[in-house]
Amino acid sequence: MDKEHIEIIGNNHMASSVETPLRLDAFDKSDNEKIKNIEHHFEIIMKELGLDLTDDSLSGTPYRVAKMYVKELFYGLDPKNKPKLSTFENKYGYNKMLVEQNITIDSACEHHFLPITGHAHIAYLPKDKVVGLSKINRLVDYYAHRPQVQERLSLQILRDLQNVLETKDVMVMISAKHLCVSSRGIKDKDSFTTTVEYGGCFENKVYRDEFLNVINNQTL
Ligand SMILES: [Zn+2]
Repeated sequence: MDKEHIEIIGNNHMASSVETPLRLDAFDKSDNEKIKNIEHHFEIIMKELGLDLTDDSLSGTPYRVAKMYVKELFYGLDPKNKPKLSTFENKYGYNKMLVEQNITIDSACEHHFLPITGHAHIAYLPKDKVVGLSKINRLVDYYAHRPQVQERLSLQILRDLQNVLETKDVMVMISAKHLCVSSRGIKDKDSFTTTVEYGGCFENKVYRDEFLNVINNQTL
């Protein structure tokens, strides 16, 4: 791919599919092997930039960055870290809207490896199944902790919730700031991005309005 095309994909924040593109051998190596290899490669990057890695302040940076990538920022790539979304029977028969809002988004853009930070708001109307509230937060946390595109993040969360809750009546809204927009490129410090994905009853404006009303009238 030529350099101009590479820039265009990054600046337009294009994603190629709902699935995160992963190699077939993505998890053949252990986390420790990955950390060791990334440490080696990041040391080369720093040296290429002209940094003196014999300096006490810099000498540990390749290891810190490698550990951060594997263990702290991108653990959501590995399916073994996926939270188990155990569901319960909807015994109390609650069947109106439930909104889990202000869920922290801590992610990174897959085009520049720079932070994406913001909040997710998620609503569903239970049918036969309900899910523990914190499981929704954990699912968001899992999918956020991989190199991402905001649209795909929204779709991955929506799809999984629809599957485990056995209903299409789910809505996912994410508002987030992208450091690759605020700190490079156009360098716009104030703009942020909102994505809204939904299915089932949320195709009906009445339900979307009820959801937005809850979001816009925070009572906590
Ligand atoms: Zn980006």
